[in-house]
Amino acid sequence: MMHHSKRTVLISGASIAGPALAYWLHRYGFAVTVVEKASAPRGGGYPIDVRGTAVEAARRMGILPRLQDAHVDTRRITFLDPDGGELASVTPHAIAGSVEGRDLEIRRGDLTAILYDTVRDDVDFRFDDSIDTLEQSGHGVDVTFRSGEQRAFDLVIGADGMHSQTRRLLFGPDAPFHRHLGYCFAVFTMPNTFGLSRELLMWNVPGKAAALYATGGKDDDLHAFLNFHVPEPPLDFRDRASQVDLVAGAFTDTDWKIPALIGAMRDADDLFCDTVSQIRMPAWSSGRAALVGDAAYAPSFLTGQGSSLALVGAYMLAHALAVHRDPEPAFTAYEQAVRPFVTENQALVDHGTAGLFPTTARALEERNARFRTLAAMPAPTPRPAYTALTLPEPPTP
Ligand SMILES: Cc1cc2nc3c(=O)[nH]c(=O)nc-3n(C[C@H](O)[C@H](O)[C@H](O)COP(=O)(O)OP(=O)(O)OC[C@H]3O[C@@H](n4cnc5c(N)ncnc54)[C@H](O)[C@@H]3O)c2cc1C
Repeated sequence: MMHHSKRTVLISGASIAGPALAYWLHRYGFAVTVVEKASAPRGGGYPIDVRGTAVEAARRMGILPRLQDAHVDTRRITFLDPDGGELASVTPHAIAGSVEGRDLEIRRGDLTAILYDTVRDDVDFRFDDSIDTLEQSGHGVDVTFRSGEQRAFDLVIGADGMHSQTRRLLFGPDAPFHRHLGYCFAVFTMPNTFGLSRELLMWNVPGKAAALYATGGKDDDLHAFLNFHVPEPPLDFRDRASQVDLVAGAFTDTDWKIPALIGAMRDADDLFCDTVSQIRMPAWSSGRAALVGDAAYAPSFLTGQGSSLALVGAYMLAHALAVHRDPEPAFTAYEQAVRPFVTENQALVDHGTAGLFPTTARALEERNARFRTLAAMPAPTPRPAYTALTLPEPPTP
C-alpha cells in the first residue's frame, strides 16, 4: 500500500500570521512546528483592526465569537489642539471606513492569545528559539536552530514580522524591501490617571502626535501612543534604552499630558517601538520557503490592515499548499491571488488614515477642517480595499 507521510512545515513567528497559518496547515494534514524567539506568545501592542475579508477568515477558523467578545467598542475619537482643547469628536468608523457591527477592533495581545489557544494542542511550539541557518535542497530544508538542534522540514515559512530573520536568510538585507513612511512610533500601557472610558483622545502638533486610548472603563489601564516625524529611519534603535531616548528626545518642550506619557513610557514593561514602514518585495518565496504577513507585505499601522493581511495571507497560503502538492506552484498561486489585495491595502497610506499625522501647520489645519465636517456626516462609506479579495472554499480532503 502506498503511504504518504505528512508534509512537515516549520513556521517562524507566533504572533498573528504564524498561528493562523499553523491552524490551516494542521487542518490540511501537515505536521506543523512553530518557532518563536520570545518565551511565550507576546502580549502588548495597540488595539488592531480585523476587517472585511479577514472577518470571514476568522469565521472559518471558528474564532469569530471569541473575537466579537474581545471587540473594543470605542464610542468616540476626540481630536485635540496643542493646548488640549477639543477640535472635533467623531466615531472610529468615520475615520477608518470600517463597518459598524461587522469589523472588529481587538487588543493585539488578545488576538494573539486567541489564535495561540486555538492551535496550541495541535502544533509543536518551540519558544525561546529561532532559526539560525537554512539550507535548501531539492527535497527539503535543513534548519539549524539557535538552540543548536538540527532538523529537516519539507517547507519553511517566515511569519516573523517586519524585521523578519527568515526574509534576511532567504533574500538578504532589509534595506531594498523597506519603504520608510516618515515616522517612528511607540506604544505602551499606562495607568488610567485621567479617568477616561471607552474613548480615544488624539493630540497633534505638526509632525508629532500623542494618543490616549481607553479600551475599557475608568479602572482599566490606558494604551498610550506617541508618533513623530523622522525623515530618515533612525540608524540604531532596536534596544529599549535607545528607543526611550529617541522618543523622549522627540517630545521635549511639548505640553498637554506629554510629560506624564514620557514618564509612563520609561516605566512601561510592554513598550513597542518601531519605524512606520512598509515591506514591499518582488517575490514572497524562494524554493521551499515563503513569507506571510508583515514579513512579506507589512502595510504599516497607517492602513490599520496589518493583522487583516496576515489572517487573509495565512488562509490563502495554506489553501494553495493544500491544493498544490509541490511548493513552487503553490507559492505562485498564493502570490497571484494575494498580491492585488496587498497592493490595494498598502496604497491606503497614500490617502486613508495617513492624513492623521500631518507634518506641517497648514496640513494640520486642513485635516482639522476635514474632521469637523466628518463629525457632522452620517454613516461612512466602507473602504473597498478591505473586501477586495474573496476567499476560496477550503479544499475537500
Ligand atoms: C509585541 C508586538 C506589539 C505590536 N504592536 C503593534 C501596534 O501597536 N500597532 C501595530 O500596528 N502593529 C503592532 N505590531 C505588529 C502587528 O502585530 C502586525 O503588524 C500584524 O499583526 C501582522 O502580524 P505578523 O504575525 O505578520 O507579524 P508580527 O505581529 O510582527 O509578529 C512577528 C512574530 O515573530 C516573532 N519573531 C521575530 N523574529 C523572530 C525570529 N528570528 N525567530 C522567531 N520568531 C521571531 C516575534 O516575536 C513575533 O511574535 C506588534 C507586534 C508585536 C510582536
